[in-house]
Parts: sequence; structure tokens; C-alpha cells
Amino acid sequence: MKQFGFLVMLAALFFCFSFAGQASAQTSGATIILDGQALSLQKKDKVEIIKGSVMVPIRVIAENLALLVTWNQKQAQVKILSGSGDIELTIGRTTASVGGTGMKLNAAPVNRSGTTLVPLRFIGEAAGLEVGWDNAKKIVTLASSQPSEPPYTPSPSATPGTSPTPSPSPSATPTPTPTPTPGTTPTPSPSPGTTPTPSPSPSPSSGGQIKGIGWSDNRLAIAFSGSMIPKAYTAADPARLIVELPKTSFDPAFATLQAFDTVTQSGAFAIADSADATLVKYEVTDTAAQTITITVELNRDKPFSAYQEADVESNVYVIDLNPNATPTPPPVKPGNGKKIIVIDPGHGDGDPGGIGATKKQEKSFNLSLALKVEKLLKKESAFEVVLTRRDDTFIPLSDRATIANVAGADAFVSIHANIAPGKPTVRGTETYYYAGGGKTLANIMHKHVLGATGFTDRKVKYASYKVLRESAMPATLLEVGFLSNATEESILFSDSFQNRVAQAIVDGLKEYFSR
Ligand SMILES: [Zn+2]
Repeated sequence: MKQFGFLVMLAALFFCFSFAGQASAQTSGATIILDGQALSLQKKDKVEIIKGSVMVPIRVIAENLALLVTWNQKQAQVKILSGSGDIELTIGRTTASVGGTGMKLNAAPVNRSGTTLVPLRFIGEAAGLEVGWDNAKKIVTLASSQPSEPPYTPSPSATPGTSPTPSPSPSATPTPTPTPTPGTTPTPSPSPGTTPTPSPSPSPSSGGQIKGIGWSDNRLAIAFSGSMIPKAYTAADPARLIVELPKTSFDPAFATLQAFDTVTQSGAFAIADSADATLVKYEVTDTAAQTITITVELNRDKPFSAYQEADVESNVYVIDLNPNATPTPPPVKPGNGKKIIVIDPGHGDGDPGGIGATKKQEKSFNLSLALKVEKLLKKESAFEVVLTRRDDTFIPLSDRATIANVAGADAFVSIHANIAPGKPTVRGTETYYYAGGGKTLANIMHKHVLGATGFTDRKVKYASYKVLRESAMPATLLEVGFLSNATEESILFSDSFQNRVAQAIVDGLKEYFSR
């Protein structure tokens, strides 16, 4: 799942550089210029030239190129998440991989008293930068050229002819930083006091809006709309995990949904159930740059992985302190001939999903309806039912599919409610499928659910949603109604309505399996 949605990382190269307080960029005789500006290197940053390759600490890559870096100490492996494919390097090895393809390095990454130095040019090029090297002057120039792939958009890649779900992203197109003309890169002025002209600020539309922040199962989940280019790193004394989010603001609904002081523009919540982390704080730390910083207080330094998911109504940026592990689904009695149904209430915890006309949260609707379906299915002797979540917790999309796959489910039903940002009149019921087997299930479920809602028929549609794509059994995703429509929002949260829709879902499953 880690490759998912990381096209956005290239967009980082357009607007995520902040070089306030330029320090000298000359170390070991080499100067690094990114888009016409000398990189700010700290005194402790050791830059070396090994076999003609400029080697920089991975911190420099993470902070200046705004690429997410994860570090596997055991395997001495650095992984850099890039829109062009994940870049993997190993200390002492001259082979690397970019998006799974093996590549040769001039110089292997090295460890210098705890700091890992990696070849800048290789990583720059692998991440889609234009890299130049003036050997006489020892100047590395990096230029953020247009990405070869389109900027990341959270909407699913629907087939032609299907109307896409309204995208929560107001604009996924970042305002580009002016690209310096090759050959006219200015000589850096490392003398203190000569601050280079900062890049013009991108328009506010290129930023992200935080909808929710949560902590579940040793994961920090940040739900947002728009585009967001996080910088995540750990720091010591005290041990903490820091996520910086430039060009990001809090969604107006955030303050009403989570602990938030609108005067100080900050908030926090304690973590009760983790051996590793104790507190999550979030605050606006740079008003001019619209930077929000989220700090997780840790009990000790922990390696983490970071990835982004595009869920149906949200984008979620996840920092995961768990080692990679397959989720354990709830036990299912095997071999009793019953059909195993996985009901998947979308979103949860820090990911509220869609936020309704009166700020009701989609995650609550989804869970409430799913629990009603579960109750009804338990009365049916032909079915075993498994829920992907039974409380307000965040479950990554891949894990939801894995739960169904490991349980050997016969059908997967994901429950959602829709939003159409800025279009309060849009309403109706729609149902999604991805693979062939899902289409029949979707058609039957849609007929029953639409009959129960009485809403406008927005039809059965194809969409490449991750939970549908990765589920090995017939799978469907129900968008019962639109929370962004005030009338439907109110109906969706009515208990009698939910009971009716829950019964319709059960009736649909009975029809599907009695064919
Ligand atoms: Zn949803």
C-alpha cells in the first residue's frame, strides 16, 4: 500500500522548500543548489564526495527535497518514497532499486558515526529532478522540472463513461515554483546575511485542509482534503515524531470535531493505549507559510513508515509505528457451509470521511449502519459476519481488504455516505464495483438499498477503489446518500432509516447467494 498515492511527492518539489535563515551550503567544498537556492545545511551535516558522487546525510534529502524517508536499521536500508517509485538503498551496497528496478550506484551509501550518507545525484534523478554537476566548481544543481506523471488526485480512476465521485480536492494542481533556466543558475552566496529571494508563495488553493487527526493501533492518521506535502522525521530529547505540513490549514469543521483552541490555533490529545507514544499535539507553527506541525511524544525513538491513502471521501496520511505485519482478522468458524460476509464501515478515528451539512461525520453513520447489518446477519443461519471495525478506530484500506481475504469471505460490502463539496443540492444513492464478480453483487445490492432509501438513483458505477481492488471476493461499495445535502444528512442519521437500509443490505445478500 505504500506506493499508493505517492505521485503527490513530486508535487512537493514545486512548493515545499523553505530556506528561512540560509546557512552555508558549502561543505567539503561542494555546494548544492536547488532551484537556484543554496540548500540550507546544518553545521553537523557532513557532505562528502566519494568516487565523484556527492554524498549527503539522509536528513538533507528528507527535509530539503521533501521526500519521505524511512530507515530500516536492521537491514541498514534506506527507503525513500518518491512519485517515480520507491527508492531503496543499502549501506555498503552499490546496487539500489527504484520502483523495484535494480540500479547501479557509483558509490555505496556509507555510515559516518551514525549518519547515513547517500548519493544526492542518484536520488535526485530517481525522484524526477534534473541534476547537474559542475566538477570544477564542485556545484550540484537540482531543478524541479515538470513531473512526468500528473499530480496525484484522490479521485478514483473511473472508466470512461462513468461519472466520477465528486472529488474532495478543490485543486490538485500546485502552483509551480519558477523553474530556473538551465545554465543560468546563480552562484550561491554562502556569506551570512545575504538571504536569497524566497520563492513566491503558491496560491492557497494548492494547500491542504486537515479534517481530522487520530491515533489508532500505533498509527497516526491525518485526514485531509486538497493536497498536502508532509515532512516527517523523529527527534530526540525528548523522543518525538514530528510531521510538518506546509501550506496546510485546519478545516473549519476541525475545531468543532476535535480538541482545538481557536485562539492559539492548537490542540492535543493523550494516547492511552500505546507503549510507544503518549501525546499528539497539533498547532499552527508558521502563520506566513501556513505550516501546521503535529508532534507525537514518544517513549523512545521508534522507526516509522509513512504512506498516503486516497479513501473515497478523504485522503489520509499515515505514520505507522508498527512493523509490517498482516492484520489478524477476527476468527471465523471454518467449514460450516455458511457464507462469510465482511461488512466494512468506511473511515474511522482520525479519518472522519465526509463531513456533512451540519458537520455530522460519515465514519459515525457507516459504523452505526454496519452494526445494524451485523445484528441482522447474525440472525441468519446462512451467514457468518465479520466487521472490519466495530468501534471508532482507523484501519488502513489494505488491511480492510486483507481482513476479508484472510477470513476467506464470500462477499465484501463497504458502507459509506457521500459528499459533493460545494454542491449541497447533489443527492442520491450510488453503488460501486471494481471486478466482474462485484458487478452482479453491486447490481443486486443497489436495487435493494435504493428501494430502502427512496433517494435519487445515481446508478451502479465502476471505480478503482482500493478496498474493492484488493478484495479477492465479489466486493461492492455502497454510497447510501449524500451527507453534504442537508436533507439526506438528516435522514441518514435517523434510526428507522438505518434499520430499513440494514435490512435491505441483508435482503440483497440473501438474493445474491440464492441465485
Ligand atoms: Zn466514505
